[in-house]
Amino acid sequence: MLDFGIAGRKAIVCASSKGLGLGCAEALAKVGVNLVMCARTEDVLETAADMVRRKYDVSVDTVACDITTDEGRSAVIAAAGHVDILVNNAGGPPPGDFRDWSRDDWIKAIDANMLTAIDLTKRVIDPMINQKFGRIVNITSGSVKSPIPQLGMSNAARAGLTGFVAGTSRQVAKYNVTINNLLPGQFNTDRIESLIENRAKAESKPKAQIRELMENAVPAGRLGEIHEFGAACAWMCSMQASFLVGQNILLDGGNFNSTM
Ligand code: NAP
Repeated sequence: MLDFGIAGRKAIVCASSKGLGLGCAEALAKVGVNLVMCARTEDVLETAADMVRRKYDVSVDTVACDITTDEGRSAVIAAAGHVDILVNNAGGPPPGDFRDWSRDDWIKAIDANMLTAIDLTKRVIDPMINQKFGRIVNITSGSVKSPIPQLGMSNAARAGLTGFVAGTSRQVAKYNVTINNLLPGQFNTDRIESLIENRAKAESKPKAQIRELMENAVPAGRLGEIHEFGAACAWMCSMQASFLVGQNILLDGGNFNSTM
């Protein structure tokens, strides 16, 4: 059986009570990684953590917090103590028309999808360098490669994080600390459900029709599942992925049409 070589390591998986974050938490637990999971809604977070504890022989600590706040990030770092793996994630900004977005809306989006990941990276990176092992995976979006016009704040904030990772990952790679981004295409989560609802309203079409249109647009003929996303994340955190530096791994069922 393939051994990822990270059993017994400690990971913070941000925004992980549902969706892609939960997929990553579960996949890491499956290969023996102890977890700190966080989300804002305590009961949902506890239910998710219990499920992971029951299924896998790992420790799971939880912190109910808003990871986009300084207090939230401090609480998560304190709960972890020692961090080997950091999976950065937070909710995505709302869709809309850029004419309607205020400076405050932009600051919120940049905080959630760029500065939160950068701040957490800053807090864990030196201990990772000292111990000569670290894995940081940022959940960004396929929109970094191929913009989604109505998600302008997401396109922009995540592109900013991508630029930061491109340079910083190359400064720390020689210490066996890797930083990479994992780009979801369309996955079956609550987030995609609300985007489907939004588009259905905008186009005056039934939700089922929008979902079918989206599925048909993907060469794989379907949306992704969170366990598929988690599996890629766990591999990016593995010993085997130690030469993967500053990359943007797109997981989208072939949706982005390109030769390379
Ligand atoms: P989701 O199913 O809605 O799950 C979001 C998770 O993050 C929940 O556990 C939520 O719990 C937590 N969360 C949200 N904001 C948080 C905050 N400020 N602090 C702590 N926890 C927070 O979303 P998802 O589909 O997994 O998406 C995850 C990220 O990937 C988002 O940024 C999204 O825009 C991006 N993305 C998703 C897709 C897709 O197809 N699903 C595609 C491209 C990009 P609480 O609400 O209780 O905090």
